[in-house]
Amino acid sequence: SAAGIVVDGLRKRYGATVALDGMSFAVRPGVVTGLVGPNGAGKSTTMRVILGLDAVDEGTALVGGRPYRSFRHPLKHLGSLLDAGALHPGRSGRDHLLWLAHAQGLTARRVDQVIEQVGLAPAARRKAGGYSLGMRQRLGIAAALLGDPPVVMLDEPFNGMDPDGIIWMRGFLRSLAAQGRAVLVSSHLMNEVQDTAAHLVVIGRGRVVADAGLAELIAAA
Ligand code: ADP
Ligand code: ADP
Repeated sequence: SAAGIVVDGLRKRYGATVALDGMSFAVRPGVVTGLVGPNGAGKSTTMRVILGLDAVDEGTALVGGRPYRSFRHPLKHLGSLLDAGALHPGRSGRDHLLWLAHAQGLTARRVDQVIEQVGLAPAARRKAGGYSLGMRQRLGIAAALLGDPPVVMLDEPFNGMDPDGIIWMRGFLRSLAAQGRAVLVSSHLMNEVQDTAAHLVVIGRGRVVADAGLAELIAAA
């Protein structure tokens, strides 16, 4: 099926370093899929390739059956965590979202909806320079959801979250999947995603080492 994300046979080198060595997996609607592997395994590279930010030497990455870069309004097809480094410290979180919404033909009403949805309302009108990492993660997730996309992709969303934030994030990711979205979440820590993801893609050195439902993986252990 074309829904969700399908990556097939991705190969990529950075000079002598093989970053992706035949990476293939699918991210289906209605479940959270965890992309798990140690630092350097290829999680970020895979996500950058899906977004069309990195070219590959071989292979394809499709979102809803098409290359991500082929969408005229990409945020309506796939939302991903905004790079926290790209925040303008003097502007509010709401300003950032309004700017993105404007660029994508979305309304201020939609901006206020996603602010509520991610629990950012108390901080939304404060300068983003004062945000904690957890608040920046929530802002990034709000940006990812602006276009109400069928696919959501988050690279290490638990980073910098306090214990309450982690509990919130787990429930939130499950609710996105329960709404029928395809959700891909990366982590270098198995225990961060194993309570959240119904499906796990475990990778190492640029390739998939296990790809199974959580119950199957536990039964095999
Ligand atoms: P992960 O996200 O799982 O930590 P990455 O996708 O960041 O892994 O990295 C995969 C491999 O590619 C690592 O060996 C990393 O050092 C290398 N790599 C990633 N980005 C670059 C880059 N821009 N230049 C050179 N090597 C890179
Ligand atoms: P727009 O956002 O202006 O509709 P796009 O290039 O983003 O333009 O979309 C092009 C086509 O893809 C549209 O006909 C749209 O209906 C269709 N489309 C929308 N969502 C999806 C999806 N999740 N998977 C595949 N096709 C889709």
